[in-house]
Amino acid sequence: MYRLRLFATRHARVFEWMYVRLERALVALDPVFARIGYNRIERPVALVERGLKGLMFDCRMCGQCVLSSTGMSCPMNCPKELRNGPCGGVRPGGFCEVKPEMRCVWVLAWDGAARMREAQRISEVLPPVDRRLKGSSAWLRVAREKAEGLRATREADRLAMAEAFPGARESEPASAPLAQEPARAVEGAER
Ligand code: SF4
Repeated sequence: MYRLRLFATRHARVFEWMYVRLERALVALDPVFARIGYNRIERPVALVERGLKGLMFDCRMCGQCVLSSTGMSCPMNCPKELRNGPCGGVRPGGFCEVKPEMRCVWVLAWDGAARMREAQRISEVLPPVDRRLKGSSAWLRVAREKAEGLRATREADRLAMAEAFPGARESEPASAPLAQEPARAVEGAER
């Protein structure tokens, strides 16, 4: 709905705040989702996402949501589906050349981004749309990718620790590895 789309960009900061919390909640739920099976929950979550985002942002379910980078203005509403800024045909007053009754999504995007905490994200170049993801839940995909990233980081840290303290690791496999006592401290204790 066009009016709600305008509302979303005018209140981009509030939506940004909500999106950050939603993402954290979804990442925290990753073990639950993994247990149920991401494939099983894809359909119901995508339905909810389509309903909510369709209402608020006229979401087209591209599957790679970039609202946080575009001031909460969905670039898929651009008749040319441009994801990295406007074309050269923006009319006076910031209206679209293809749909003159509609404000250019990129004019709205700059307006929305200026209200956001991470306003600079609009300057990042976005990758082209992967059409294979159309219709899928961007929420679930992001949650899954972030959760996987966190797991990989934790595992890399654990391996680095284990490699740094191989002796302690062998004798105390279930506890945090301990550093070797400094030679001076050992000598002091023996005296
Ligand atoms: S960027 Fe894609 S997922 Fe996000 S609101 Fe637009 S169409 Fe929907």
